[in-house]
Amino acid sequence: NARWPNSKDHTMYWSKTFIPTLREDPGEAEIASHRLMIRAGLTRRLAGGLYSYHPLVLRSLQKLETIIREEMNRAGAIELLMPALQPREVWEQSRRYSIMGEVMFKLKDRQGRDLVLGPTHEEVITDLVAHEIKSYRDLPKTFYQIQTKFRDEIRPRFGLMRAREFVMKDAYSFDISLSAADKSYQAMYDAYCRIFERCGLRTKIVEADTGAMGGKWSHEFMVLADAGEDGLVECPSCSYAANLEKAERSVPLAEQAVSSEPLRKISTPGARTIEDVSSFLGCRPSSLIKTLVYVADGKPVAALVPGDRDVNEKKLQNVLEASTLSLADEATIQRVTGAPVGFAGPVGLRIPIVADISLKHAVNRVVGANKADAHMLNFDINRDAAVSLFGDIVIARGGDGCPRCSGSLAEERGIEVGHVFKLGTKYSQAFGAEYLDEKGQRLPIVMGCYGIGVTRTLQAIIEQQHDANGIIWPPSVAPYQAVVLPMSSTPEALRVLETLKASLEQAAVDYIVDDREERAGVKFKDADLVGFPMRVVISEKSLANGKIEIKARGDASAEMVPPGDAVITIKNLLSTAVPTR
Ligand code: ATP
Ligand code: MG
Repeated sequence: NARWPNSKDHTMYWSKTFIPTLREDPGEAEIASHRLMIRAGLTRRLAGGLYSYHPLVLRSLQKLETIIREEMNRAGAIELLMPALQPREVWEQSRRYSIMGEVMFKLKDRQGRDLVLGPTHEEVITDLVAHEIKSYRDLPKTFYQIQTKFRDEIRPRFGLMRAREFVMKDAYSFDISLSAADKSYQAMYDAYCRIFERCGLRTKIVEADTGAMGGKWSHEFMVLADAGEDGLVECPSCSYAANLEKAERSVPLAEQAVSSEPLRKISTPGARTIEDVSSFLGCRPSSLIKTLVYVADGKPVAALVPGDRDVNEKKLQNVLEASTLSLADEATIQRVTGAPVGFAGPVGLRIPIVADISLKHAVNRVVGANKADAHMLNFDINRDAAVSLFGDIVIARGGDGCPRCSGSLAEERGIEVGHVFKLGTKYSQAFGAEYLDEKGQRLPIVMGCYGIGVTRTLQAIIEQQHDANGIIWPPSVAPYQAVVLPMSSTPEALRVLETLKASLEQAAVDYIVDDREERAGVKFKDADLVGFPMRVVISEKSLANGKIEIKARGDASAEMVPPGDAVITIKNLLSTAVPTR
């Protein structure tokens, strides 16, 4: 380092680390945070869903991990580290070897034994606890680890958002009863709130489906963003918010004043889809009723929903109390309707029919006629079909009634950064994780599991905190809190630089000095692109007035302060540098 030599200190110089910034947007990136991570030189892709963490983002990752550890430890959780490489047997024991399916990376060792790369650790931790925890005196316990997970995602994309190898903080709680488990759940929930707040993220907590975890109750921590892969609804009038996979809605059930016309069959040649039929008949899609044939626990059922709505299969499955549900194949549809796919209808069907609650008083609707190229007009659901069950079975959407109050739901998109589940005893029963209570009775341990996508969270911070010029890191997770740009090498400027460095170190503000032989414009651009919260410029011009320039990344203008006031100014700005947008 020719211009700013000082071999005795621990200063990080830009020229000595590795920050391969790019002038142009990378072609591979579709969303802002992914583009910025690559342009700011934070990461590079090795292959689909596999990324290297460069020095700067590694610092952010380590800071985020420190926040997570502090909050986990404060909540009483105990850190451990389990193998990423796991034997097939534990996954057979929970019956998830096949349920997880293709998402698990599977391999064989030299003896031909099957192994997997852990996508999550319920199996391993429950096996451990089953062997080591015996008594109510050993409980409660919450274990956590910060570890690399592997998932062969169908569509790895958006950089670290959906990767195939990523860092997760996962935690598992073990309790003697449901009510004790509720306390452990609440402790993790509260810790998650603090973690996301400390890393400058605004999150929305939503009710979520429990999916393959097989639990009973769960919440997701969502970062609202247009680029989010999850749909969610929230009620502006009350606190209800839920993932679309789970969201309920309320439906006004006033009887319709219209009287029904006589049922009548009409020919609709080639019109199979809702769009085909509605344009053929010149009616709105909502005046049609879709009939979908499913197979629930091996038996065919028909689901009726308004033409402009989609079935929520999870809700349908719950309404049916079925343990498996899938769309029927073509042969089954033909067998139960007697017609080719596209013309199924409820009239005369001899399988159980479930209808969406909004159809309770439906009259004068268009339905399939169970005959090729034909539909029925003036369908009256109470007159013309034998509906066995009405329920809320469609995907909720903006404008639907809130299920908890009289408000109406708004739709948003979000990035899931964290997830907390009440698991119950599914895994403890599969692994025989039991404890002896005071009376010597053997009981299954009640579990919870909790995950934070650590690397996804880092990118979500960027998605929430950036502008046209680059990233705006919250100070708590910024790679460095300040970047110092020495624009002059006069003895005075060098002296000011050395004093500033010493006082930043004393105040525990971490910083990087941009010592590159580059034009000022390039350095300013890169400082904004990488997004250090504070920028300090030492130039001859400002020193002539006895000042140096300090600017917060999120602020429009800079402050000119005497060098002696620099650190206090920086400290003040850092403490108020809250998320901007
Ligand atoms: P998703 O619905 O986004 O696939 P998930 O529900 O499968 O996630 P969990 O099993 O709950 O995820 O994992 C815990 C956390 O790990 C998630 O909340 C998310 O933040 C993170 N995560 C999951 N899959 C990935 C991935 N492929 N890349 C990065 N982070 C991930
Ligand atoms: Mg999840």
